Amino acid sequence: MTKIAIFGAAGRMGQALIRCAARRADVRLCAAVEQSGNPALGRDAGTVAGIDATGVLVSDDAAAAAAAADVVIDFTFHTVTPKHAALVASSGRGMVIGTTGLDAAETRAVHEAARKIPIVWAPNMSLGVNLLFALVEQTSRTLGMDYDIEIIETHHRRKKDAPSGTALRLGEKAAQGRGQSLESAVTHGRCGITGDRPRGQIGMHAMRAGDAIGDHTVLFATDGERLELSHRATNRDAFAAGALRAAVWVAGRTPGLYDMKDVLGL
Ligand code: NAD
Repeated sequence: MTKIAIFGAAGRMGQALIRCAARRADVRLCAAVEQSGNPALGRDAGTVAGIDATGVLVSDDAAAAAAAADVVIDFTFHTVTPKHAALVASSGRGMVIGTTGLDAAETRAVHEAARKIPIVWAPNMSLGVNLLFALVEQTSRTLGMDYDIEIIETHHRRKKDAPSGTALRLGEKAAQGRGQSLESAVTHGRCGITGDRPRGQIGMHAMRAGDAIGDHTVLFATDGERLELSHRATNRDAFAAGALRAAVWVAGRTPGLYDMKDVLGL
């Protein structure tokens, strides 16, 4: 039985995690954390997530929550995740991070924490998307530079970062597959007199519309044919189930930064 603390408990993913944890026998919710001022503070985490009471009240005491748990699961915001990682590192617990949109300095802070504790950090915790990462790398390697690659992602109107962490990881896999770096190959959207498409370019496009949970398509195209690899999330349970599986897996591991690839044995 792995004791988990959920940071960002009243958020979209936090609530999905609370609901999924209640259905599993191998994890137990022991703390639920929100930021000061959040209306969920003091309420039962189950009630906040729309299920029966869990006996765990939402609190803003992150240190006490980390101390009570075996593993902290963080789905919050890019500016606070590094602070949470440092806090969990000082308490010696395991951590699962789903937050995306971290800049270079914030990313370094997570890497620093992973020198002390085991952390699973993945932009997308679903099995389907992690398989897609592998398929995109393989397809790019096989098709090579004669195929144009475009990545199109769609998310709900409240998503805070763009392009999605998943789209960026898909871009990295596509670039790696044919020996490029994403940084040098990528172009974000297009506007104006763009001229001919440069060979080897990877196009990245972020749609923000309605309540879409997360759609990703990688398009490979050349003269005469197009191949599209697509994934669509229909609710957040796929991410929550993956994060809980990662929490069970990471408890008691040696320090280091792990990916869902490690958790799923892909
Ligand atoms: P959200 O805005 O609904 O939830 C984030 C929650 O974090 C909010 O309730 C907010 O109050 C809380 N929060 C902010 N600062 C905090 C702090 N200091 N302490 C505790 N709680 C704090 O967002 P969401 O849709 O749940 O997504 C959260 C993050 O997870 C985003 O970065 C998103 O891109 C990412 N995400 C990752 C995956 C994945 O599979 N890895 C899937 C979905 C979303």
